[in-house]
Amino acid sequence: MIMKFHQLTSHERLAQLVDKHLIDENDATLLNTSYSSIHEKMIENYIGNYAIPLGLLPKITVNGTDYVIPMATEEPSVIAAAANGARMFSYGTVTAQAINREMIGQVLMHDIEFVEFEQYVIKHESLLIALGNAAHPSMQKRGGGLKKITVRNLGDKMVSLDLLVDAQEAMGANTVNTMAEAIAVYLRDNGFSQQVDLAILSNLATQALVEVRVSLPFNAVEKVGFRNVEIAQKIAQANLYSHIDPYRATTENKGIMNGIDAVVMASGNDWRAIAAGAHAYASYDGKYTSLSKWQVIDDRLEGSLTIPLPVGIVGGSIGIVPLAKVNQKLLKVTTAKELACVIATVGLAQNLAALRALVTNGIQAGHMQLQLKSLALAVGAKPTEVTELVQRLAKMPLRNTETALKLLKEMRN
Ligand code: NDP
Repeated sequence: MIMKFHQLTSHERLAQLVDKHLIDENDATLLNTSYSSIHEKMIENYIGNYAIPLGLLPKITVNGTDYVIPMATEEPSVIAAAANGARMFSYGTVTAQAINREMIGQVLMHDIEFVEFEQYVIKHESLLIALGNAAHPSMQKRGGGLKKITVRNLGDKMVSLDLLVDAQEAMGANTVNTMAEAIAVYLRDNGFSQQVDLAILSNLATQALVEVRVSLPFNAVEKVGFRNVEIAQKIAQANLYSHIDPYRATTENKGIMNGIDAVVMASGNDWRAIAAGAHAYASYDGKYTSLSKWQVIDDRLEGSLTIPLPVGIVGGSIGIVPLAKVNQKLLKVTTAKELACVIATVGLAQNLAALRALVTNGIQAGHMQLQLKSLALAVGAKPTEVTELVQRLAKMPLRNTETALKLLKEMRN
């Protein structure tokens, strides 16, 4: 057991890990090489950086503007698929809009008579709003802040006091939490001392929705050996399964989130918050379904995606992590709403690429080609050996670890 780990410097922590034979000297050197003085200050018990590859989607057009998209992902096929989807989108029109952009905070209470309490909140709403805004006044000065308070009946005498907060260009989690806690303190001090249980934002951001729509001619999905109209119809059919079967829907949404999470992460935003909100929203009507919809209407393939995307362009780690700032330069977005629109479009492009692959050659053809690089690295190929090993592996009927090891040995001999 390591005592008082948090009181040590990161170098001392590594030395402890070596002393206790949890890692060896080489591991410690590797961790030490990744050291960042900024990151050491960001989290508790820091020992080094765990890097995820950062790549670029060179062009995707949203609302008539071309964007360069940084994507952080360890999955080999994600950026290739996003680029493929973006290319297909270039045949048609892509419109994205933020439907709304407010965060929800909750003060959760028990032993409450709903109707009576609702009247109390209506009567005291202005006071409670003023209290919330006083807890973080700069947000209101920017034109945002706490805008509205309502009560939801959760049953069994439990209620949620829902705060609607405009966090402007920030995600707003800390701002909302500060406001919710200030209101909880007031309620505790004014007659509800035993009933107020907790105060925190909700990650089910149904008031920060983005909608993206694409309309494509059938030749956008062209693939040698297939009829364009047939591919379009099969894409719609494949998507239909995700509106019927949650097993399929989960996988389709994972594909959408492959693109979304990668941009969210590269932009310095909280991808756990986005993922939690997205999957909860996918089951908002009581059944888990796909976040996207694809239909053939006349001679067009029409796609849409609606998703909660409470991302920010300030706050959190965005202003702290140097690469998040570099990525922001690449993205060139000027508002949080614009960032959300771009991210949603990448998600839908990712979705189209996956569906088209699934209904034509299958996902493995392209996927495994890219996975071969990972396989080569996993069996110990040096970066200079990867290309040749991938070429050799591609010719093999069985492309597994055993084959890769055998081929690498042959190459080295
Ligand atoms: P911050 O606490 O960093 O707040 C954002 C800050 O940005 C504001 O307080 C504001 O400072 C400043 N700011 C400068 N310009 C603007 C502008 N134009 N619009 C808005 N704000 C501006 O971050 P958030 O409140 O956004 O919270 C996000 C962080 O919270 C993330 O790191 C997330 O991981 C974390 N978090 C997430 C939770 C969840 O999802 N459940 C829970 C708790 C935390 P000022 O007003 O002082 O001038």
